[in-house]
Amino acid sequence: MFKNHQEVQEFCKNNEIEFIDFKLLDLAGRWHHLTITPRRFTSETIEYGIGFDGSSYGFLSVEKSDMVFKPDLNAYFIDPFNEAKTLVFMTRLYNVGETHTRFESDPRYICEKVDAYMKAEGFADQALLGPEFEYYTFDSCHYQMTPQSTGYQIDTVQAVWNSNRPENNNGYIVSHKGGYHVDRPKDVNFDMRNEMVRILESLNVPVKYHHPEVGGPGQQEIELDFEGPVVMGDRSMLVKYVIKNTAQLYDRTATFMPKPIFGEAGNGMHVHMQLLENNANLFYEKGGYSDMSQIGLYAIGGILKHAASVMAFTNPSTNSFKRLVPGYEAPVSICFGTANRSSVIRIPGYATQPMRKRFEFRPADATANPYLAFSALMMAMFDGIKNKIDPVAHNFGPLDVNIFKLSDEERGKINALPKNLFEVVEALKTDQAYLLSGGVFTKEILKDQMDYLLKEAIEESILPSAREYKMYY
Ligand code: GLU
Ligand code: MG
Ligand code: MG
Repeated sequence: MFKNHQEVQEFCKNNEIEFIDFKLLDLAGRWHHLTITPRRFTSETIEYGIGFDGSSYGFLSVEKSDMVFKPDLNAYFIDPFNEAKTLVFMTRLYNVGETHTRFESDPRYICEKVDAYMKAEGFADQALLGPEFEYYTFDSCHYQMTPQSTGYQIDTVQAVWNSNRPENNNGYIVSHKGGYHVDRPKDVNFDMRNEMVRILESLNVPVKYHHPEVGGPGQQEIELDFEGPVVMGDRSMLVKYVIKNTAQLYDRTATFMPKPIFGEAGNGMHVHMQLLENNANLFYEKGGYSDMSQIGLYAIGGILKHAASVMAFTNPSTNSFKRLVPGYEAPVSICFGTANRSSVIRIPGYATQPMRKRFEFRPADATANPYLAFSALMMAMFDGIKNKIDPVAHNFGPLDVNIFKLSDEERGKINALPKNLFEVVEALKTDQAYLLSGGVFTKEILKDQMDYLLKEAIEESILPSAREYKMYY
């Protein structure tokens, strides 16, 4: 941690740092960056920040688009990918004005607020989140968009599966849906994935484990050790950054797109959740359903009750909904169960020890802005605890059957997840009080997000697709 600009400059001198880079987060959860030389890092940088145009970041409700960012002196790393040695700071967004105030809709700030809200309301003294990152790597990706009167028409889309093997040699090909934990030589990504994890660990992002995933060939997964919301937001950004940039070093591309390949497993970003008080796990209680405590059940009830509106932040892309279909271990029904991969919430069956008791929210994918996804999930959980929303009384289960194997009629009795972004926006329009509690989310960011989601949904719905050409040309 740095106390002032002198310490930063000193660090740069001692470590031969040539550039200082600032990562700026937009509404959609993408990093942008701006770079200075250490000479330009002064007390003014810390006190007054650096100005930029906030409207280009999706924060459209900002009255005037001028905004300011300041470096977070606690959150920095040395970039492992740049030729020039570069010190990188995460940033905090501020409003312009005489007295700089925090920009209330800054996703990192929302994460800070949710943590403070949890402590102030006495729900717990610590929340732990454990995201899992599924992704595919491909040798290359080609798509061509040509302008047409209706917008843009995609002419060709082709993701070439990574092979590292000579043409016409099928000896070591991973079969359809057959990639789970495959060993070498089929695991052609092992060296690359080890390198990703090596880099992540060196950047203080502890990894739980990594492995090849079901989608064959090319799907992989990296899971992280549990941490609180702000730190986990930062680490999630780093995971995506490191995976994509390392893939590039290996002449591949990595994608977290929820459903890149029709007929193969999609990419989820499941989030494990736990609440602690004095280092004791509030979710554990021997004897209850799956040894889950009543507080844990209320937390589950809150998330299930608000699932449709939460998805405005956990599944914010049109492609998200192409993953949430039966038959691929992705959830389709709003219910919970032990070891049940077809439900929105799964209580891992193997985590039986008191400190490991937790649940996993399965719909989320990595098109989410991680800070907003974690915050929305936590607010839904707190609403459940506050209002004692019992998931059993609300008919959310527990369901310990494979929902994909139920008849349509039986499955119809369970609430279905939204089918598209239009339904998600409708849900968020009427279900937002729980997000606004304690001033954690702002009316402005909810409006910006709904505008953004509607624009995505409309653009997708008017775009002629490859399938439509096949059917109707
Ligand atoms: N790939 C699956 C999904 O889309 C999840 C597989 C798993 O349970 O890890 O959510
Ligand atoms: Mg997985
Ligand atoms: Mg999982």
